[in-house]
Formats: sequence, C-alpha cells, structure tokens
Amino acid sequence: MSASVRSVALLGATGSIGTQTLDVLRRSPDQFVLTAIAGGSRVDELIAIAREFHVAIVGVLDSSAAAKVRDALPQTRVVVGDEGLDELSRSADIVVNAVMGFAGLTATLGALDAGKRLALANKESLVAAAPLVDQVRAGRETDLVPIDSEHCAIHQCLAGAGSVAGLPSVKRLLLTASGGPFRGRSAAQLHNVTKHDALKHPTWSMGPKITIDSSTLMNKGLEVLEAAALFGISVDRVDVVVHPQSIVHSMVEYVDGATIAQLSHPDMRLPIAYCLGLPERLNHGWGAISFTEAMTLTFEPPDRNAFPALDLAYEAGRTGQGAPAWLSAANEVAVAAFLDDRISWRDIVPIVADTLAHYDGTSLTSVEILREHDATARRTAEKMIASL
Ligand code: NAD
Ligand code: MG
Repeated sequence: MSASVRSVALLGATGSIGTQTLDVLRRSPDQFVLTAIAGGSRVDELIAIAREFHVAIVGVLDSSAAAKVRDALPQTRVVVGDEGLDELSRSADIVVNAVMGFAGLTATLGALDAGKRLALANKESLVAAAPLVDQVRAGRETDLVPIDSEHCAIHQCLAGAGSVAGLPSVKRLLLTASGGPFRGRSAAQLHNVTKHDALKHPTWSMGPKITIDSSTLMNKGLEVLEAAALFGISVDRVDVVVHPQSIVHSMVEYVDGATIAQLSHPDMRLPIAYCLGLPERLNHGWGAISFTEAMTLTFEPPDRNAFPALDLAYEAGRTGQGAPAWLSAANEVAVAAFLDDRISWRDIVPIVADTLAHYDGTSLTSVEILREHDATARRTAEKMIASL
C-alpha cells in the first residue's frame, strides 16, 4: 500500500450507509483500500462485498455465519461478535461505523481508543455513551468526524470558521429537520398512521429504524443529543428548525448575528466522502446544486405538541449521564416492536417516556455500567410493551 492510500474498515457494510460508502470507495480506488468489513444478518451480501474488494478481514454476528464465510472465502480471516468488531475498529486508518443501534458502541470506543479516524454514522452509540466518549477524548487528539448529514454540515460550518474544537463565538447550532412524512399533521391526525405511511420518507432513503425515527422526530431528538456530545455544547444551545426541502443541512449562528449554512441536494455520499477525504475534499460533486432553476427554501418551527419525542430528548439531555442511553435503548425496542407489528405508531414515544421515567440517576462511569443501563432500559420497555 503506498503511503497516500488509506485503509478503511466498514462496519455495517450491507446497510444503507454501508452501501453508499462502498459507492464512494469504488469511485476513489487510488485513495482508499477497503481492508475490513462487518455486518449483521445479510451474510451473502457480505461475502459478495469481500470478493469485490478483496477484503482481508470479515466480521460476522455468530459462528454459523462465520462457517458460511470461511466456506466461501477460505483465504479470508473471519472474526465474530463484539470481540470481532473491537478488532476491526482498531485495524484500519479510517473506521466507518455504519452499524445500526447500540450494537455500534464497541466500534465507536475501539476506534477512538486506538487513535483511528472514526467516521461516525452510528448516532446511537455516541448518544448513549457520551460521558465515556468524553473520557476517551479528554487530554488527547482524537479524530471523530460525523457522517450524519446535519452534524457533518455543522462540522463544515465550524471548520470554515477555524474552530471545530471549542465554541467561544458560537451562539447556537441549528439542526435542520425535513419534518418527516407526517409534517403538518396535528396529534389527532396522527392517531391511525400505518407502517407503510411511516416508512415513506419525503427526502431521504435510509434504513428502516432511522426512517421510523424520522417519522416521530425522535431522530431529530437523538441528533440534538449527538450534536451536544460531538461539539461539547449543552442541548440548550442546539435548536431545531424544520426545513422540508432538505437542502440546508444545518447551520451555525455566531454571536455577532452571522449564520453559516451548508447546502447541497440530499445525498449521503457527500458527507461520507467528506469524512473519508478530510483534510482533502474528494472531487465527486455529489449533491452539488446548479442554481439554474428557481428554488424555494422554507423554514418553520417544529410542532412540539404533535411530536413530543423532541422535548423528551432535550429532557434526557438536561438530565445527562445515563438518561440519553435509556431514551435511545427504549426507542430501539419500541421501534423494533412497531416494525414487528406488535405496537402501533402512537405507542412508540409514550413507551420511551415511561421507560425514561425509570432511570435512577446513576452515573455512567464505565462501559460495564452503560451495558447494564442499556439492558435494564430494554427490559423495562419490553415490559411496557407486553402490558399494552
Ligand atoms: P441499516 O439498517 O440500513 O444498516 C445497518 C447495518 O448494520 C447493516 O449492515 C447491518 O447488517 C449492520 N448491523 C446491525 N446489527 C449489527 C451488529 N450487531 N453487528 C454488526 N453489524 C450489525 O441502517 P442505516 O440506515 O445504514 O443506518 C446505520 C446508522 O447510520 C444508524 O445509526 C443510523 O442512525 C445512521 N444514519 C443513517 C443515515 C442514512 O441515510 N441511512 C443517515 C444518518 C445516520
Ligand atoms: Mg441526520
């Protein structure tokens, strides 16, 4: 490998972000080499990716998947479970964490601990583990760049101002939200929405869990917590503005009144390429706006009444410590139950709220304590679902 080629480990390779990351890598063969991949259930797809990119290490969930990969790719090293994810997260120059949910925790902490660039799509791990991530980042240089489009936009707005670390002249961060498929509906009009309706996102094509989170605005709530953790700012300096066109991906308002925004058509390959390419920008032009046709950009406040998930996330952020982990774990359980047709859409946020009310204030001082909190929150949410 020549010195300018950087190695990439892609965790969650078969998902929505994973597949789009592969697209970026296919277009930049001279700059990156994919050396490791991991995924959950779609083993045949993992094998196909490993073959296409001549990947050296493949991470799978369990021993039966491992046997299948070893059969198909006898020359490839296969690693299993969380231990495997930990190894992979320390194995390359750039670690793209595109795993869905709390399962991304090991890779987030592993990559930061090993001093690798962490290109982070997996917001749930950062939301849940913010105090632990702070510990890892304290007193040393770490390289954490967000793939999530809003946070990537803020990273760009701050980098332009020369101040990603430390936010002295920043008044507030403004996260834009498309508003999801149910924007404009009142709480009463949201009573009987179906799974089919909730899975139809107006501007982005994404995995099922984040698409449901966008329909409840829990995604934006998680993103408020993600922004606070990433940029070291309190949730009360992070605001949400609904922008249905998804062209402005987020903004930074400075104390002098200036607001800096990042604009592009919605295409996740742009933030992925930004995170891979830094400090260079890759020359692909994804999402570029021609400005040759008239375009209207609108902004409105979110309807906090119809979408109470947003304020719930602020509440968890103000409580801090384990509260965001409880919120996120309960939400994962409730969204999975909704996708399984075990609860209705309107049950999701009340289950999260009732579960969060059980958090006892214990501090998050270790990964073991965080895992206990996560498990307890999940059990609590499952009990609520069973009692409906
Ligand atoms: P997805 O469901 O399409 O893909 C998830 C990937 O994770 C799959 O490859 C799956 O096999 C893998 N996975 C799941 N559990 C695993 C485990 N235990 N071990 C290893 N791999 C496992 O999800 P997605 O939409 O690509 O989202 C991934 C992450 O990126 C989420 O945290 C999401 O919030 C975030 N994100 C996604 C988008 C988007 O446009 N899709 C945008 C911003 C942020
Ligand atoms: Mg986002």
